[in-house]
Formats: sequence, structure tokens, C-alpha cells
Amino acid sequence: METAAAIDTRPRVMVLDDDPEMASYVAAAMRRAGFLPTVTPNAEVFFRELSDEHSIILVDLMMPGKDGIQVLHELGEKKCTASIVLISTVAMRILGAAERIALGHGLRLLGSLRKPFEVSELLDVVTTAPPPVPKKKKKKEIAPVTTEELRRGIDADEFIVHFQPKIQVKSLEFVAVEALARWAHPERGLLSPAHFIGTAEQHDLIGPLTSAIIGKAFHQCAVWLDAGLRLKLAVNVSTRSLGDYDLPEWFEEQTRMAGILPHQVVIEITESWITRDPLAMLEILTRLRMKGFSLSIDDFGTGYSTMLKLKNIPFSELKLDQSFIRDAASDAEARYIVESSISLGQKLGLHLVAEGVERQEDWDLITELGCDEGQGYFIARPMRGSDVPNWLGRWQAYLGK
Ligand code: C2E
Ligand code: CA
Ligand code: CA
Repeated sequence: METAAAIDTRPRVMVLDDDPEMASYVAAAMRRAGFLPTVTPNAEVFFRELSDEHSIILVDLMMPGKDGIQVLHELGEKKCTASIVLISTVAMRILGAAERIALGHGLRLLGSLRKPFEVSELLDVVTTAPPPVPKKKKKKEIAPVTTEELRRGIDADEFIVHFQPKIQVKSLEFVAVEALARWAHPERGLLSPAHFIGTAEQHDLIGPLTSAIIGKAFHQCAVWLDAGLRLKLAVNVSTRSLGDYDLPEWFEEQTRMAGILPHQVVIEITESWITRDPLAMLEILTRLRMKGFSLSIDDFGTGYSTMLKLKNIPFSELKLDQSFIRDAASDAEARYIVESSISLGQKLGLHLVAEGVERQEDWDLITELGCDEGQGYFIARPMRGSDVPNWLGRWQAYLGK
């Protein structure tokens, strides 16, 4: 005769909670809802009993010995495919961090519950459809570029510029572009900056690379100007280049040669690392500003001692980092950061730009919060300079002009 367990077809559930009362409350509710729960009091017993047959795991975060975060880590390593529900008394922000950790480990997170909760809340969470298994995006493996390769590429003039439109939020007017470096590599195809900026910065090749990119971007800007298209042009300058005292003169000379004005140029400073000589940087940036160039603090909110730089350096523009914009429509904390950055920027009299605007709701939000300019895939992807007039035609048609 077969045992009851052998023919039991109820979906199997693991409950991991050191609090016996809570564990039996959860188990009873699950049983009534048609599940077959196994209760375990600690991580050791839990991992011993866990099998592929368990479709749902309810895990408490606060436990003596291994805590819930360590359990999530281990489940991630084991490539567990069960649906996970987090249960805890911890503060919402900690629970939110735990959710990000679960998702970061590629786990299927159904949701989380704060104790005490009603049985109905628990059932709501466990009966939601499990999310699809997060697919690890297969990035094309590209071997890292070598210094020699980069030097050869610069010498052979293989670097080109793509331009991404920036739109004035109030008028929807096309007002500016950001120049983004691309490497038209003869064997590897078109490479994005992630593949070469780091190497260039580390091996003192960022100077020649910046010169090549800026020279081409200024030239393109002058071509547009001749065709009647007056745009501001934003260029990226790494803090590595900011130890060169002649930079302001160099920039001025480049605008003169191209036939454009410093007022048309926004210099976006990416401050992803600590500068060797802050005084030199301050001097160079101040002189650039005095010559009429706009200065933008790029990726605002992500760098080192951002506030101090904002206070000390005469920036004219603040560019909100795309990670905050991406989350702000759905995540209250990201929204607070965006809101307070905008209000800070407004008080300092800065021009405010939001990057990474990908969806209608991102656009609505930056409009509501009072950003001056928006940039992102929702408006346009970076494109070749020669494609910009066509894009503008489509944009104006879209606006009904
Ligand atoms: P960044 O200055 O923050 O530039 C924005 C990046 O976000 C660009 O990536 C752009 O293609 C991408 N982007 C724009 N809109 C969206 C959107 O809606 N969603 C998402 N997910 N991404 C968006 P890209 O071209 O790969 O450049 C990466 C970084 O490389 C730049 O970040 C900048 O820091 C650096 N970089 C690019 N060109 C240069 C350069 O000429 N010199 C230096 N020093 N750095 C450069
Ligand atoms: Ca930038
Ligand atoms: Ca950025």
C-alpha cells in the first residue's frame, strides 16, 4: 500500500522561521490553502530538507545563526528556482534591501510580508503568479582592449562620435546633443565607451582620445550651424584630463578653429574617482567657466563627495544620474533623491538635466518635478551626426510642426 505522502500532490512549501509560533501560524495557513508545508527552525535543517520539489520558500530574515540574507545568498549559489517570500519584522528599508538582494541573486521573488500579517495577505502573496526566471542577459564576450590596441586605434583615427538629442522639457524643443565616443574597430565592430574609457584613463590615453572626440564633435556642431541648426553640444571630460593647466586655452582654440562659441558647449565632468590635485581641477574648471563654457556635474549622486564639489566648483548644470531617474516612477526613495536633487539644483541656480528617460512615466515625472532638459531612449538613442537632421524631421512631425 502506498503511503499518504507518496501520493500527496499538494504543492510543497518550505517554511524557515526560528519563531515556532510564527512558523506554525504560517504552516497552518498554507495547509488550509492547499499546500503541503515543511517547517524548519534554522538554516542548517532548512538546507538539509530542501529539495527540487519545493515550489515555494517562506523565509524569515532575522534568525540566530545564519540569517535570511545569508540564506538568500546560498539559495542564489544553488541556483534555486523555487518562488521566495520574505517574512520579517525588520524596517521597510531593510526589507527593500533584502528584496534587491534576492533579485540580485537571480531568485524568483514573489513578495515580502511584514509581521504581523493577516492570513489573507499571506495567501495574496503566495498565489500571485511566479515571475519568469530572470534571464541572465548574455553579453557578447569582448576581450578587453589592450593599451597597444587602443594606441593604434587612436593613431589610425578609428574613433567616431554619436550624438544623443536633449529636449527642453517645457517646450519639447530640440535644444542640445551629447557627444558620446564610439570606436569603429576594424575587427570587433562598433565598441561603446565601457570597452575603452577605463583603459584609456588608466594608461594616459584619455587626453588624445578626448582631443579626437571633441575635435570631431565641434566640427559636426559647426556643420549643423551652417545648415541653420543651432544646438548646444555637451562633451564628456574625465577628471583625469583636469590636471592640464592649458585645457581652458585648448578648449577655446578648438571652438575658434571649428567656428563655434564657448557658450554653445557644455562640458560634462564625470567624477568617478578622486582627483589627484583638487586645486588644479578647481582652477581649470573655474577658468573654463570664465571663458563662457557651461560646466555640468555628470551622474549626479553617484560620485565621491558630490556635495562638496557642488559647493566648491562653479558648475552651471546638474545632470541627474540615470539610475535614479529609472527607478523614480516606482520607487519612493529614488523619487525623494530626484526631488531633493532638483530642489537643491534650483536653489543653486543650476540648469537641471535628467538622463536615462526611458518611459512616458519618467518623462511625466521630470516634467512634474521641474527639470529643464531630458535625455534618454524615450526621446532618442545616440545616433550618427548625419542622422540627426532626419531624426529632427520626425520629431517635428511628431510635435505637429
Ligand atoms: P554618460 O555620460 O552618463 O552618458 C550616458 C550614457 O547612457 C550613454 O552610454 C548613453 O548611450 C546611455 N543612455 C542614454 N539614454 C539612455 C536611456 O534612456 N537608458 C539607458 N539605459 N541608457 C541611456 P554610452 O554612450 O555607452 O557612454 C557611457 C559612458 O561613457 C558615458 O556615460 C560617459 O561617462 C562615458 N563617455 C562617453 N563618451 C565619452 C568621451 O568622449 N569621453 C569620456 N571621458 N567619457 C565618455
Ligand atoms: Ca555625460
Ligand atoms: Ca550618466
